[in-house]
Amino acid sequence: MTNRNYQLVIVGYGGMGSYHAKLLKENQNINVVGTYDILEEKRAAALADGYKAYESLSAVLADAAADFVLIATPNDVHKEIAIAALNAKKHVICEKPVTIYSEELIEILRAANMNDRKFIVHQNRRWDEDFLTIKKVYDEQMIGNVFHIESRVQGANGIPGDWRHLKAYGGGMLLDWGVHLLDQLLFMVDSKIMSVYANLSYILGDEVDDGFQVFITFENGCTSLVEVGTTNFIQLPRWYVKGTTGTAVIHDWDLNGNIVTQNQGAKVEAPKPIKAGQGLTKTMAPPSEKAVSSSAFPKVETTMESFYDNVISVVERKAEPIVKNEEVLRVLQLMEAIFKSAETNEVIKDFDNITTKIN
Ligand code: NAD
Repeated sequence: MTNRNYQLVIVGYGGMGSYHAKLLKENQNINVVGTYDILEEKRAAALADGYKAYESLSAVLADAAADFVLIATPNDVHKEIAIAALNAKKHVICEKPVTIYSEELIEILRAANMNDRKFIVHQNRRWDEDFLTIKKVYDEQMIGNVFHIESRVQGANGIPGDWRHLKAYGGGMLLDWGVHLLDQLLFMVDSKIMSVYANLSYILGDEVDDGFQVFITFENGCTSLVEVGTTNFIQLPRWYVKGTTGTAVIHDWDLNGNIVTQNQGAKVEAPKPIKAGQGLTKTMAPPSEKAVSSSAFPKVETTMESFYDNVISVVERKAEPIVKNEEVLRVLQLMEAIFKSAETNEVIKDFDNITTKIN
């Protein structure tokens, strides 16, 4: 028996479903009562891991003991499971990308409203240390006003798994990884999006994108290049950020990198020309040692509640969700604009004024 207050059932006991089960073992409030997966072998795996394995989704929904349904299935079935669970008066936690199309999310939110139940999307990378570090650099103007942000993830292993190769399941790297990087970017840069230009790559010959590049301009003057690749045998930095008084780089998830800033008030020595290829350059010579300082990143102490704790605070009406549904909708609409720009080779202008808002 457990004295935890809330009972949760995981639907979809694959990679991410079993990871949630592992993480929730540590949670003081939420108890994983069971799981449901369409595959017999996954139901057996859940049983072996000590969870009840429901035989059907309707059995989950009929169980009055279950307060929450956590959806960790492929993306194409998030909507139908979410609406069924909300109609059965369960709160729902849903994996990213919440749905394939923004209209589907709007339908889910209607069901959540109608049933007075909470629906929260697991945009867990808002808690990543590399992101929180860059967000601190941005918020505290540690390199002056940030005017350009490059955010990348790159691998050389192609698209993983099975359903991620297929359009019908919501496969492809924009929906898979793009959703995280775009969510982080929009969570950090509080400004309207003025334009979006993108291209998707199909190097591996799949029907879905194996990577993409998108260039975004914000009303506050900041620009951003967001890039995902699965055919990169040499990786570029995870973050490269330019501000009016410095530059920040984070190479990897271990936070290797540094900040280089101009020394305020230091007498700036004219750079000495260097030989570059067959010529000389002063413009591209490194700044003199006196002109700049290099520092390590400060440790970030986030004041945000953990994802699951925030879910409970929201259900108990003690806090606002950290991952707000209107933000999730904006990211979905941004991905739709990215698909459109890549298909038409056009710049999508005035993005934030042409999208539907939740009313
Ligand atoms: P997976 O293929 O490993 O697992 C999916 C499981 O869902 C499988 O066991 C499959 O049998 C089951 N399933 C499929 N249809 C079902 C249905 N209708 N009802 C019940 N079970 C069903 O996939 P995954 O990598 O675990 O991804 C699952 C979800 O988690 C996706 O939405 C993915 O984008 C997301 N995800 C999120 C993160 C993150 O960091 N937030 C990381 C990985 C995956």
